[in-house]
Amino acid sequence: MVNNFTVDEQALSQRLMNYRREFHRYPESAWCEFFTTSRIAGHLQLLGYELCFSDAIIARDTIMGRDDANIVKAQERAITWGAQLEFLAQMDGVTGVGAILDTGRPGPVMAIRFDIDAVDVMESQDDSHRPRFLGFASLAPGVAHACGHDAHAAIGLGIAEVLAENKDTLCGKIKLLFQPAEEGCRAGKAIAESGWLDDVDYFFAAHIGMNVPSGTLVCDPQHFLCSSKFDLHFSGKPAHAGIEPNAGRNALAAACTAVSQMLAIPRHRDGMTRVNVGQLHAGDGRNVIPANAVLMGETRGENRELNNYMYQQVEQIAQASAMMHGVQVDIKAQGEAIGLQNDTELVELIAKVGPQSGFTEIIQAKDFGASEDAGYLVDRVQSRGGKAIYCLVGSDLTAGHHNGDFDIDESRMLPAVKLFINAIRQVQTTVDPDDIA
Ligand SMILES: [Zn+2]
Repeated sequence: MVNNFTVDEQALSQRLMNYRREFHRYPESAWCEFFTTSRIAGHLQLLGYELCFSDAIIARDTIMGRDDANIVKAQERAITWGAQLEFLAQMDGVTGVGAILDTGRPGPVMAIRFDIDAVDVMESQDDSHRPRFLGFASLAPGVAHACGHDAHAAIGLGIAEVLAENKDTLCGKIKLLFQPAEEGCRAGKAIAESGWLDDVDYFFAAHIGMNVPSGTLVCDPQHFLCSSKFDLHFSGKPAHAGIEPNAGRNALAAACTAVSQMLAIPRHRDGMTRVNVGQLHAGDGRNVIPANAVLMGETRGENRELNNYMYQQVEQIAQASAMMHGVQVDIKAQGEAIGLQNDTELVELIAKVGPQSGFTEIIQAKDFGASEDAGYLVDRVQSRGGKAIYCLVGSDLTAGHHNGDFDIDESRMLPAVKLFINAIRQVQTTVDPDDIA
């Protein structure tokens, strides 16, 4: 039972499953979610939401890790899958959609965020894998909903339905954000900087699974890792390696200098840090001074300061290595995650509405141990006086996140819908509209 709201839970549960299985069948990688966005937008439009696309929700100049070469292909595929041209035009090349339900009555502005992208992993071909034997496995080889964002998108639509049906009993404004490119932490910053969340008083987000069993709710996950993903592009000058090596500018040598120095960054006394160079591609031929090198790496830290420390060292090393070998270096950010700190007021509120939403065990704190794009959104809301929370909705899993055998417990989507509906209801009944900034 959802607090004072009209909901046919059985029918809703069935629709959540249908939504989730459709998203699962048509998975799209980060920044390629054209079909997914179109389907979501179609449902939201029918429910009467005001829709926001493109520059309204994403600051293009802070987009990270988006490869223009993939975009046209992804749009074409989305059209063959049945994406609506009207929505593709409004997206203008940038995926994701924001929806606003304005009740017209005074009250708080509340936002809930759902990430919608899939993972670049091959889905299991095993006959015992449920999406396969029930016929909703990925139709895109090498891409699969192996993190549960298909369920997040479905939960978002379920919430959208319940809110729209009960609009007359609500106050204030509710914003639903269907976020692209969470994988690799690529969109959070651009969405935060668009300002779309700047009027938000209460912000909610959640992840399904994350090693939390079905029935359990983790109200206050902690220790999110801050991280910076980057590519270093070194550009030198080619030359004949025998006739005039002195005329060349060796980009490969600069990249190698950078790698050895990056792995030798003196560690910070204040806590855990990481640095990794995962890939290095350079050179053209054995007898040519290498004119180009691309290095892909990342830093991490247990807090923002420690990650910033590591990243600043990387920048300095990149510049110095380039200068040493007479080449140019271009540093391209590919993704970024900052820490995330929940507001106690909302941790308590979520814990309070958990049991009535169908959770049998409520856990206060748990180590998160990974990075989350939502950190930017939470930070943006909190820096403007709003309150925010990111919690974990338990689900038994068939395999770990980002594994081809990954599948969720679909019965856990309904409690997630009820949790957020009850949280919104609770905020609305306890907040005095005059207190809202
Ligand atoms: Zn995820």
